[in-house]
Amino acid sequence: MTECIFCKIIEGTIPSVKIYEDENVFAFMDIMPVTKGHVLLIPKTHRENVYDLTEEEAAHLFSVAPKIANALKDEFKPAGLNLLQNNGAPAGQAVFHFHLHFIPRYDETDGFRPTFETKESESSTERIQEIAAQIRAKLEN
Ligand code: AMP
Ligand code: ZN
Repeated sequence: MTECIFCKIIEGTIPSVKIYEDENVFAFMDIMPVTKGHVLLIPKTHRENVYDLTEEEAAHLFSVAPKIANALKDEFKPAGLNLLQNNGAPAGQAVFHFHLHFIPRYDETDGFRPTFETKESESSTERIQEIAAQIRAKLEN
């Protein structure tokens, strides 16, 4: 018996408000919507977060993202749309089954306030080059 609430949603043992389903993914309404139309898209296979997705799972899941985004755009005519995906508790992950948030944006006071503050100690050209070299070296492994 899984303890994962999103696995239970897929199994149908706890209720959800489904908007889309195929062989590999399931999309449903967030129970605590940040804005009108807040949707979650998840893989049917239990994967804790982005580190655990296979390339095929990620490719399929993201192939469904424009479909959902366009349905939200056509129906609700939001001014914008945030796709958000949290990995690990310090990043804000509360449910440990990979999920991609779709958060339609209506205006600056719609309740969602992501902030990007520049970390000065990371922002020199030399530092950015140094960090990029570390990442590239890992990707080449
Ligand atoms: P995160 O903080 O990225 O892990 O987001 C978890 C999201 O799951 C939150 O936005 C919750 O409102 C949502 N959530 C938790 N339980 C349920 C549920 N039973 N049905 C739908 N959404 C849920
Ligand atoms: Zn799960």
